[in-house]
Amino acid sequence: MENKGKVLMQKYEFGRLLGQGNFAKVYHARNIETSQSVAVKVIEKEKVLKVGMIDQTKREISGMSLVKHTNILELYEVMASKSKIYFVMEYAKGGELFNKLSKGKLREDVARKYFQQLISAVDFCHSRGVYHRDLKPENLLLDENGILKVSDFGLSALTECKHQDGLLHTTCGTPAYVAPEVINRKGYDGAKADIWSCGVILYVMLAGYLPFHDTNLIAIYRKISKADYKFPNWFSPEVTKLLSRILTPNPKARISIEKIMTNPWFRKGFNSKPVHNKVEKALVPVDIDAVFSSEANNNAFEAKKDMAKLTNLNAFDIISLSSGFDLSGLFVIPIFRLGLTNRIVTCYYN
Ligand code: AMP
Repeated sequence: MENKGKVLMQKYEFGRLLGQGNFAKVYHARNIETSQSVAVKVIEKEKVLKVGMIDQTKREISGMSLVKHTNILELYEVMASKSKIYFVMEYAKGGELFNKLSKGKLREDVARKYFQQLISAVDFCHSRGVYHRDLKPENLLLDENGILKVSDFGLSALTECKHQDGLLHTTCGTPAYVAPEVINRKGYDGAKADIWSCGVILYVMLAGYLPFHDTNLIAIYRKISKADYKFPNWFSPEVTKLLSRILTPNPKARISIEKIMTNPWFRKGFNSKPVHNKVEKALVPVDIDAVFSSEANNNAFEAKKDMAKLTNLNAFDIISLSSGFDLSGLFVIPIFRLGLTNRIVTCYYN
């Protein structure tokens, strides 16, 4: 396996491949100093550039680095080399939630417990202006205690596949979890789109199969647009009622997170204690273009001094820099480091 044994930034030793998405490979890695297990997502920079959503992703990653919640996979560090971006994240030892479904549908109380954790994570991010836009089974992981961890919050721009004509690229996967208004591409409310996906996830946990399925994509799209699905007879009337309010094609008529959280079926056994840690210190955004425009002719050593002063660079700042500023000869640059306890941010050249 290509990366096994490789050491990133003299800090993380790569282990086995955990999984693979459209744009990324995810490896298990170990922090050499602390022995802590982490997951490192490796993304080819060129693929991100092709997607052409750098600005949005920059904003979202900054937002994401400020959210800390028990049910959201924590992003520890972002690093970049000339050709790759590395996201160092919390390791979810329990793997994908949906592996559990391979053994059959979940009991209603078990499904409810995961749904509560999912809604809790989604609500927390929405309240901070971060939307997922691509909630699906691969993004629902479990830690060693069986706690749900939602991954890729704010990274949807990296996973969206677009043709040159701007339309969604259907070979990316099935649209099974995507809201009708996202498929129609008429502009949509990220919050309402996430709620729809949560509804599909709840349905799948309880049924063991998808609400919208067919032999071809067009037929699936049609079913999604009309919310053409049936409830199996083992769904309780309470959950049926809630799901009908979530899987409503018109986003304006769809139930809000606030309302979901007051629903009697949802509330059963719900631990409404705050499960997030507050971020101690907000990061100060840096006008990266202004900082570097005057440095364009300096050599890497001179730039090093200025880099050290920056507080909120991220991988995409470096990408946008790459064209105007020669980064060749550099190996890997830690872009920002969010300490596990103190959230100190460091930027330096290796
Ligand atoms: P992604 O590109 O985020 O969809 O990741 C691809 C696959 O890698 C996922 O479906 C998981 O099986 C695995 N994976 C991703 N992130 C982690 C993580 N933090 N811990 C454990 N496994 C992960």
